Amino acid sequence: MVHQIDRTQDVLEKDEQFLWHSMKPYNPDSTMVAASTKGAWVTDINGKKYLDAMAGLWCVNVGYGRTELADAAYEQLKQMAYFPLTQSHVPAVKLAEKLNELLGDEYVIFFSNSGSEANETAFKIARQYHQQRGEYNRHKIISRYRAYHGNSMGALAATGQAERKYKYEPLSSGFLHVSPPDSYRMTDAHLENAHEMSCVQEVDRKMTWEMSDTIAAMIMEPIITGGGVLVPPEGYMKAIEETCEKHGALLIADEVICGFGRTGETFGFKNYGVQPDIITMAKGLTSAYLPLSATAVKKDIYEAFKGAEDYDYFRHINTFGGNPAACALALKNIEIMEKEDLFSRSKEYGDRLRSELQTRLHNHPFVGDIRGKGMLVGIELVKDKRSKEPLEVSKVNEVIKRCNQNGLIVGKNGVTVAGYNNVLTLAPPLSIDDEEITFLIETLTKAVHEL
Ligand code: PMP
Repeated sequence: MVHQIDRTQDVLEKDEQFLWHSMKPYNPDSTMVAASTKGAWVTDINGKKYLDAMAGLWCVNVGYGRTELADAAYEQLKQMAYFPLTQSHVPAVKLAEKLNELLGDEYVIFFSNSGSEANETAFKIARQYHQQRGEYNRHKIISRYRAYHGNSMGALAATGQAERKYKYEPLSSGFLHVSPPDSYRMTDAHLENAHEMSCVQEVDRKMTWEMSDTIAAMIMEPIITGGGVLVPPEGYMKAIEETCEKHGALLIADEVICGFGRTGETFGFKNYGVQPDIITMAKGLTSAYLPLSATAVKKDIYEAFKGAEDYDYFRHINTFGGNPAACALALKNIEIMEKEDLFSRSKEYGDRLRSELQTRLHNHPFVGDIRGKGMLVGIELVKDKRSKEPLEVSKVNEVIKRCNQNGLIVGKNGVTVAGYNNVLTLAPPLSIDDEEITFLIETLTKAVHEL
């Protein structure tokens, strides 16, 4: 035991000395050093176990410890570790074919390594596509406030969270923002005709006033995740698709989190009866066992790059994108999802999770809204249910701390602008079982009630 404490101390000291963590100042008291993982569980170097109700960063969709995934990568690495996709290789072809089957239309796939890169690739394709067709002014990309689209200069420019951006400006130019659908606060979320909702009209107005023929694309997550799990009203995404069509803009679906069963469908857009022009994906594609992302592009967009006299290809290269081992692993990952029916399981278990949380928490004075789809849940904490004013972040943090003390990892999301960093988030592995869900509900409910 003494030895273990010494070891922890040693790791924490070296951690401080050598490692730059994401998103937070160094704090040894809140640094958890993971030692091993299995199923939905993470064990730290002191031997304490946590149920990871965020599946890492919303990404370990099939759960931890799937040795078949390690085997698939290992076998592929032995046979052929690398070959660039300026040419081709079998695992990439097979994976592209499989993704087509899941996407429900004809798409060609460009592979990269991260969600940010997949989105950058989408922006470049959208801009060049319009140029290939002689529409040289179409360069602007529209996205929503509160959405997160990545850390690189273009993806961050598309991101609608000012607090993540202002230290790093100027970012890429040509990115514009509109209001997100915050169903909990929208006074017109009930409207049958989504085109009449003010957040849809705003998109139409933005595209008109900016001049339709300067708009290249709109990027959106089917459900805004990191911005606070904003589930849109039913007809919203369809109305946005139609608005894009009206203005000649492409619709890019950012499926980095919503994809691969997270929302109870293969892809988030399938909940909303749309068929986006470009679809970006990462995280759940490999359940984060290895880095891999993809930008799926409708066949007719791809075709527009062919045959032009001056420029007939997409001048974009990615050294590691589509690594054979990552592709082989992704194929095995999808095979597991299909074999274990994780897409519909996500829907069924997610519904149970939300409905039990509703029962247990809806009377609590700080619980304003419990929402989500599939294995994606947001619990919005407010000071007062009538005003819907966000709860102070210190209190939200208190809930998270108590969950942690009791062996449960939950997330906190939203935007710090105007204090909307008040949404507890859950995105557990889709393979989480009944007993684990019960533990999750009990632990979270207790932490909220202790507030
Ligand atoms: N899009 C969305 C919706 C995301 O949530 C993220 C990451 N959380 C990204 C893009 C960027 O992905 P990555 O961190 O792999 O670059």
